[in-house]
Amino acid sequence: MIVMKFGGSSLANAERIRRVAAIIGGMVEKRPVVVLSAMGDTTDDLLTAADTALKGIVSVDAVEKLHKETAGLLGVPFTEIDFLLDELRTLLTGVSMLKELTPRSRDYLVSFGERLSVRLMASYLDSQGVRAKFYDAWDAGFVSDSNYTSADLLPETWANIRRIFTSYCQSRSEDVLPVPVITGFIAKDSNGFITTLGRGGSDLTATVIGAALDAGEVQTWKDVDGILTTDPRIVPSARTVPVATYDEVAELAYFGSQVLHPRSMLPCIQTGTPVRVKNSYNVDAPGSLIVTKHEKTPDPVRAITSKKNVILIDLVSTRMLGQYGFLAKVFDIFARHCISIDVVATSEVSVSLTVDFKRVNLPALQKDLEEYADVEIKNDMAIVTVICDVRQSSSILAASFEVLAANNINIQMISQGASKVNISMICGSSESDTVVRLLHERYFGEGGLCSPKSR
Ligand code: ASP
Ligand code: MG
Repeated sequence: MIVMKFGGSSLANAERIRRVAAIIGGMVEKRPVVVLSAMGDTTDDLLTAADTALKGIVSVDAVEKLHKETAGLLGVPFTEIDFLLDELRTLLTGVSMLKELTPRSRDYLVSFGERLSVRLMASYLDSQGVRAKFYDAWDAGFVSDSNYTSADLLPETWANIRRIFTSYCQSRSEDVLPVPVITGFIAKDSNGFITTLGRGGSDLTATVIGAALDAGEVQTWKDVDGILTTDPRIVPSARTVPVATYDEVAELAYFGSQVLHPRSMLPCIQTGTPVRVKNSYNVDAPGSLIVTKHEKTPDPVRAITSKKNVILIDLVSTRMLGQYGFLAKVFDIFARHCISIDVVATSEVSVSLTVDFKRVNLPALQKDLEEYADVEIKNDMAIVTVICDVRQSSSILAASFEVLAANNINIQMISQGASKVNISMICGSSESDTVVRLLHERYFGEGGLCSPKSR
């Protein structure tokens, strides 16, 4: 069996839903279990409706319009949709009267997005002659703790899923059991209250199902050809990465380009279930496969990402020389300011580190740091991260610095991640697109480090 997960943008309108239904219809032989997000921006629209309700106005217009228009175009009945919209209106009326939205009510509220989309899809599939059955996650076995808005699944979820779906997975093709279409992102706690697994949580729903049912693969369908070698807005000729490891994909996520939510990879890492990122606009393309370990020696470089608007902080102190506990004190200051550090490099008397621009009260941080060291702060910096096989780092670094030097670009700091899959370089924000283009050409261009000829 396989798991097929479709995100909001793949379900944004009737035309896309038709496309997705055709893809599912073509896979029935593989015993697909389908996981869906809410249509388009429905989750955000629901949160906006909550804000509006807090101001005393109850409106489900945006959500109603999208779902009814789509149902109309697909020719499926409104019954299920109307039923849920009534419940949603009642809930929003409650919010508007109480002028209060607890995390528990918020989860209840956003759950309507996924509950609507699975009903619409199952009904449309049926109308197309593909038997389907919708499931709210709790009917598919999903039980979580009560940490509303970012709940963790309880371990019994795995056994529940197996109990509910094993006969479907093992059925013979002539049995034609209905294809399960399950809400991503939501669950219920042991008191029966609806919870959510955090934004982007549908990926986790899909990977847990895949791991529990020992799926041949978990497919997450997007509208690009899998994982790309870099952001195509910077390098239009970016190409698909055929195979990457979970570690490599996690680094991609931390440095800006999210393929799968890092947390959602854990179930499949545990069981070694492969995940494939596929393009719904290019069904026959193989997409990108995410595996635990590369089978053969991989190309030296997998992908390049960049993140702008970071702050580089240089700390220099001769007091650090031969001292112990100095770094602990410095990191403690960041912890007290609740600032997370991205990249670090250190020498005997200095530490350089980067932090995210958005979350920092710089003057206060600087004042505290100055008790221990001379502090120099550089705004407007960028991190360019090369996801690569660090065992081949000498040749990667040689090739990188050769091309950067030839173009008069100076890198201000460099760090090689402990995960053995990333090298990060810090440069000015204004230079970062150029750095990405130059490196991409050097690695993936003709005669580049990753081209067959050079290996
Ligand atoms: N609909 C939810 C969100 O927008 C969950 C998901 O799409 O994975 O975050
Ligand atoms: Mg979404």
